[in-house]
Amino acid sequence: MKKKLVIIGGGFAGFWSAMSAVRQSREINRENELEIILINPDNYMTIRPRLYEVSLEGLRVPLDKYFIPLGIKQVSGKAEIIDPEVRIVTVSTDQGVHRYGYDYLILASGSQLKGMNIPGFQYTFNLDTYQNAQRLEDHLIRLAKADFSGDGARTFVIAGAGLTGLEAATSIEEKANLLRKKYAGSGADFKVILLEKEKEIAGMYAKDAQTYIVSTLQHKNITTMTGTYVKEINQDQIILKDGTAIQTQTVIWCAGMVASSLTSFLNGKRDASGRLMVDQFLKLAGHPEVIVAGDVASVPVDTDGHISLMACQFSIDLGKWAGHNAVNDLFSLPLKAYMNESYVTCLDLGQNDGLFTTGWERKLLYQGAEGKSIKTRITRELIYPGEVEETVKASSPERPVKV
Ligand SMILES: Cc1cc2nc3c(=O)[nH]c(=O)nc-3n(C[C@H](O)[C@H](O)[C@H](O)COP(=O)(O)OP(=O)(O)OC[C@H]3O[C@@H](n4cnc5c(N)ncnc54)[C@H](O)[C@@H]3O)c2cc1C
Repeated sequence: MKKKLVIIGGGFAGFWSAMSAVRQSREINRENELEIILINPDNYMTIRPRLYEVSLEGLRVPLDKYFIPLGIKQVSGKAEIIDPEVRIVTVSTDQGVHRYGYDYLILASGSQLKGMNIPGFQYTFNLDTYQNAQRLEDHLIRLAKADFSGDGARTFVIAGAGLTGLEAATSIEEKANLLRKKYAGSGADFKVILLEKEKEIAGMYAKDAQTYIVSTLQHKNITTMTGTYVKEINQDQIILKDGTAIQTQTVIWCAGMVASSLTSFLNGKRDASGRLMVDQFLKLAGHPEVIVAGDVASVPVDTDGHISLMACQFSIDLGKWAGHNAVNDLFSLPLKAYMNESYVTCLDLGQNDGLFTTGWERKLLYQGAEGKSIKTRITRELIYPGEVEETVKASSPERPVKV
């Protein structure tokens, strides 16, 4: 009887887990003894890092292209319950509820925007999923068709100046302008306001990178308001804690991510984002047949005490390690420890602007058009899988040599 590897989640971590499991099972000549089942709500891997972009085209990679030729079974549905005692995952699908037994489980169900208990939160938009980015786009099209008329139609408020908030703030005007032109509207003066609860913008960056970000926001006429909290949201205005009211029909919420709630079915320590704390082999203490990868995992990544972040750089890597280690564990072979000593970040700051930083202090290496072009190459090329066999080969758990 074949051993069953069940993967929950078809994002970066789940997809690369599946590729790596195929590769490693071939490597040890056990591919005929392994069945891989991946559960995801739909047949796509969504390229979440691009959901803030002006166009949503090409942001979903069809899983079938890889899974059909490689014999991976994809279940379209939502895993509702994991029962680690009996090793069964209960999944709701359009055809009803199904139960899948496993010999080994990779949990890779990612993260989601943290819901907020603020009156009117339901009026906010976000860039968390493809469907939510589409909802924002549909809203902007409606505004464009009405020539952005009406109170607050030309003002965009972005709540949260983390990486996603900065990217949303510096791209929204370009997006609105394109739609305005497409729907034959007249000229519109847009206003973009970026709200941040911390005292300064981009405080997570080194001084040089922070200075560049702040000056770029100024140059692009983006108003920043720091040390501020949102108290209430209505359809056409937002009210801040100090009573300031801003007329707007578009609030894009970019503050706070939490790990998928499926983590609650497994025992283990969690960090502040709800991620399960695993060892460097991605294993969870007390669950010998479970590996956790991607945004649901908090993994030590070096000998200096750094921990993985919710970022696709880690999710892709962790998927490669997860598939490899799950197969080796199933067939009693040694596991490979994860290490990443070359942490980098890249950020899009709109037309002609972007940055690339190195190290955990996030020091500026490239900025301006050069920074933007590196960012674009990473998110439009390097994080996409290539052709099927090329992708299987690329799933080896190796990191580029540190430079
Ligand atoms: C707007 C935005 C911009 C970003 N920009 C960057 C960036 O510039 N650089 C960077 O490194 N990272 C960025 N990130 C973060 C990056 O996208 C995530 O770290 C990455 O997607 C995590 O990969 P993952 O596979 O762990 O999870 P996800 O990509 O979240 O994939 C999880 C998958 O599991 C599925 N799933 C969830 N629950 C269930 C369930 N119950 N049953 C079955 N399937 C389930 C989901 O539908 C999804 O397909 C950005 C994220 C967003 C939202």
